[in-house]
Amino acid sequence: MSEPQTRSRRPLASLSIDVDNKWAYLRAAGRENWESCDSYLPMALRRVTDILGELRLPLTAFVVGRDLESEEDVEAIDSLRQLGDCELANHSLNHLPWMHTMDPAEIECEIVTTHDRLLSALDAEAVGFRGPGFSCPPEVLDVLLRHGYRYDASIFPTSIAPIARAVFLARAKLKGEQKEKAKKLYGGFASMRNPNRPFVRSVASESIWEIPVTVMPWLRTPIHFSYFTFLASFSTAVAKSYLRTAFRLCRSTGTPPSLLLHPPDFMGREDDQDMAYFPGMKTARADKLELVRWALALYAETFEVCTMRNQIERLDESSANPSPHFSNRRER
Ligand SMILES: [Zn+2]
Repeated sequence: MSEPQTRSRRPLASLSIDVDNKWAYLRAAGRENWESCDSYLPMALRRVTDILGELRLPLTAFVVGRDLESEEDVEAIDSLRQLGDCELANHSLNHLPWMHTMDPAEIECEIVTTHDRLLSALDAEAVGFRGPGFSCPPEVLDVLLRHGYRYDASIFPTSIAPIARAVFLARAKLKGEQKEKAKKLYGGFASMRNPNRPFVRSVASESIWEIPVTVMPWLRTPIHFSYFTFLASFSTAVAKSYLRTAFRLCRSTGTPPSLLLHPPDFMGREDDQDMAYFPGMKTARADKLELVRWALALYAETFEVCTMRNQIERLDESSANPSPHFSNRRER
């Protein structure tokens, strides 16, 4: 472990992937065959390992418990550990994007079953959780605290939450109860009032770190990689300049970014016809991989990227020993 004074002078950042499998996307889109579809995890995660390995980037992978029933998917997830610095975290059991409508027993089952499966299938003790659909009611925090979790990463403090929800509802073919539940997805304009940097949330007398998915400082528009590849499907030059601006603003406002990837960021239109409806999936595979490699290389060059667990440890260190670099400048 290096001493603080020899550490990189680049600002701290973290990188994660939500290991959402094809069934989760197809179910969210209201497709009836979602349960019987194939898995794209072996293909997509091999590319994740190749590109991140080449760039020496660490990764936090949020895993869905349902996928840990399949040997092939367990192997694919396990292969991420070739990265050397890879943290496995909890992304619920069934990836239902409406945890805010569940009763406490159901929430407990969604979190604890995945926790136990990560331990038994991959010998990984998760300390972080991200709710599907960026949903994190206080009942979730309560379960996380009772099970020794150190952080939640479900908040997405974007200004475009209502638009993202409208696009989701228009594309998906949900009916009845599912449609009603989905109406609360991504939070409302209220989600914008959340900080755009790690902060402490308190439940009763206990506290837990919240690491939001970083958005563009000031504008609060998304800057995660799926949004970047979606923008690039209209103009690569505009998308690249947007991401450079985002990184520059993160640095100038002292916002330590936490960015996220999804498996489709590593897939092109040749890879999966069923995913053609998903934003950014009309791009050819080679072009998509080149774009994502460019964006990740820029991220690695601009910031000192670590896993989210490592980010929490560093945050704990700096709260015991506050640094003026990140504590004083606030983006409002
Ligand atoms: Zn997800």
